[in-house]
Amino acid sequence: MDPLKAIVKADRFPPLDHPALRRRVRKASDLRGVFMDEEALEWLIRQGDPVVYATYEPPVPESAGHLTFGLTIIFAGQVGSEYFMTRGHFHVQRQTAEVYYALRGLGYLLMQDEQDRARAEPLEPGSMVYVPPGWAHRSVNTGAEPLVFIYVFPADAGHDYGAIQQKGFAKVVVQAQGRPVVVDRGAWTRSPGR
Ligand code: ZN
Repeated sequence: MDPLKAIVKADRFPPLDHPALRRRVRKASDLRGVFMDEEALEWLIRQGDPVVYATYEPPVPESAGHLTFGLTIIFAGQVGSEYFMTRGHFHVQRQTAEVYYALRGLGYLLMQDEQDRARAEPLEPGSMVYVPPGWAHRSVNTGAEPLVFIYVFPADAGHDYGAIQQKGFAKVVVQAQGRPVVVDRGAWTRSPGR
């Protein structure tokens, strides 16, 4: 293929511009089974089924040697006490890494390996995070404006959503007393009086 160039403007919508952009949208109704509060999700779907996040990718072949790159925008919002976030995935080819670079907004990148070690890296404009091979990853918007970031990973890595959804991320990002906190999912779902 020939070289290509895209323009990123995080304060504009859509934030990534290229004539042949692939756009994927995830609405609330696409995210059943992802959030802890299923009733709150169904309520949101009935309220108009908002877009939770979208990705934009210039056309790069999904084959060895190429790098898939693109931009994710996660809109501001909550499902119950949990903030809007991506589904989260391992790469099918576990020995592939990914790089994130945050352009706008506030949030977290949650990561978890197959030994269940978990990390939560705060994201703010300028944050660059390296997700090593073998770590599942999910991003969360804790702010009042869109969270916008760029990602790059080997184009033949593939997405495995099932493994981490079955097990669930060990950490969740929730609003408690008006501010975002990262907590163990088990402790949060068991905590009384919230
Ligand atoms: Zn990935």
